[in-house]
Amino acid sequence: MKKLALHWKIIIGMILGIIFGFIMNTIENNAGKTFVSDWVAPFGTIFINLLKLIAVPLILASLIKGISDLKDISKIKSMGLRTIGIYIATTLVAIIIGLSIVNIVKPGIGMPQETIDKIKLKYENDAGVTDKLMKASAQNDAGPLQALVDIFPSNIFKSFVEASMLQVIFFALFVGVCLLLIGEKKAKPLIDFFDSLNEVVMKMVDLIMLFAPYAVFALLANVIIAFDDTEILVKLLYYAFCVVGGLILMIGFYLILISLYTKKSPMWFLKQISPAQLLAFSTSSSAATLPVTMERVEEHLGVDKEVSGFVLPVGATVNMDGTSLYQGIAAVFIMQVIWPEGLTFTNQLVIVATALLASIGSAAVPSAGMVMLVIVLESIGFPAELLPIGLALIFAVDRPLDMCRTVVNVTGDATVSMLVAKSLGKLHDPKPKEWDDNYDDVK
Ligand code: ASP
Repeated sequence: MKKLALHWKIIIGMILGIIFGFIMNTIENNAGKTFVSDWVAPFGTIFINLLKLIAVPLILASLIKGISDLKDISKIKSMGLRTIGIYIATTLVAIIIGLSIVNIVKPGIGMPQETIDKIKLKYENDAGVTDKLMKASAQNDAGPLQALVDIFPSNIFKSFVEASMLQVIFFALFVGVCLLLIGEKKAKPLIDFFDSLNEVVMKMVDLIMLFAPYAVFALLANVIIAFDDTEILVKLLYYAFCVVGGLILMIGFYLILISLYTKKSPMWFLKQISPAQLLAFSTSSSAATLPVTMERVEEHLGVDKEVSGFVLPVGATVNMDGTSLYQGIAAVFIMQVIWPEGLTFTNQLVIVATALLASIGSAAVPSAGMVMLVIVLESIGFPAELLPIGLALIFAVDRPLDMCRTVVNVTGDATVSMLVAKSLGKLHDPKPKEWDDNYDDVK
């Protein structure tokens, strides 16, 4: 029998997880919910832990090996500049799409006062909302150049422990460049070491992915049991549709770029990258998805390591098109509902600039986009006393939207890695490896 493709297995796991979650929600006295959080959700957590476990060694090995393969320092500069340039350009497109939709559809105009009051009552003092506000204020207290300072680690082991992606990237680049500078003979032992480490970690991704269909079952069942007030969810559908519509347009934009510039079929691209997209959806975290994104992009899309090893980890941290599109829509939606006097053209221009910076500053973890939304709102002088109400307004649908925007964030990174690879002549025919390639030799 022909083996079912991985993405189908994951989709089946997701659907069953959603159905299971809904069934468990109907069990009286929260017994179903407790069962899911005690006995099902931990398997999702184990899966995410495993992915996070291999992220740092993977970035380190693939980037050091990749850079040392480049054999030419000037190529690093051109790869870096292209990557950052394209990232900024796609993010601007995302924000413009978001702002256009929200201004045309106006999902926040005419929301009944009764609904606003109900949402306010339910979520204004919710721990989730307060937590986002506190995190945003901590972020705000840092100086303007703090983000730059944070790229340069003083202790690389601390960076490993904290999985500070940009610091690990900096260190890997530094080691890679120095390997080029010490000459081939002296560099060889270390390059061979990282090459082998890279192979091992890639194999780990294959093995972890065998568990993915079961893990997404657990992750989605756990998401579903968190929904309790469907009435409020329905009231926010209009807003949610705007975000999802914008995200779909953004994916369309990537597909156009792929087909025009790399001449590859958009359907082929989607099929190859789909396991990473499905995991992004299930985990709401581009950082947790990163090892899988790297595996798909290198082995299934044919991007060379030196490009994927740089573009993808940097992208997971700084390129969040889905997040910035969402921030544009959410900020204007909130203004339409509770602060219409703030809806000026100048404020919308400020939103473009701050949403760009905010998406760069957002961590690649669940609901980070909402924390940075607070900073976007503050930048346009949104009244501080209205902030908890503003966040309360969008809180009920934030998790599903987070899942969708993370898919776009990951797809954007994969798209840019293909564009950069193509422009540097580093896009080749993919050579996928199976988890059991050498299994017969060792069993
Ligand atoms: N969850 C998103 C990510 O990891 C960030 C966000 O928009 O909250 O890419």
